[in-house]
Amino acid sequence: MAKIKGTIVVDKERCKGCGVCVASCPCDVLKLSAEVNGKGYPVAMMANPDACIGCASCAVICPDSVITVYRQKFE
Ligand code: SF4
Ligand code: SF4
Repeated sequence: MAKIKGTIVVDKERCKGCGVCVASCPCDVLKLSAEVNGKGYPVAMMANPDACIGCASCAVICPDSVITVYRQKFE
């Protein structure tokens, strides 16, 4: 069966560090960074990228739509 691997890209300068995406991820992929963006907010990042299944939960729930999800299929 084909396996799906996902990855996400966060628009760092538009992220406000609310953490909603972190809580929404079923695979415990995301966390907030220790560093802050230009507005002084921590930003969402992949702490555990190998676990991402590309489900897009994080992107759907982000109130500012700053997450883009990419999926790759492996046969
Ligand atoms: S796409 Fe799904 S698995 Fe990947 S980081 Fe977002 S919520 Fe987690
Ligand atoms: S839900 Fe959106 S704005 Fe909030 S921390 Fe995640 S990426 Fe940033």
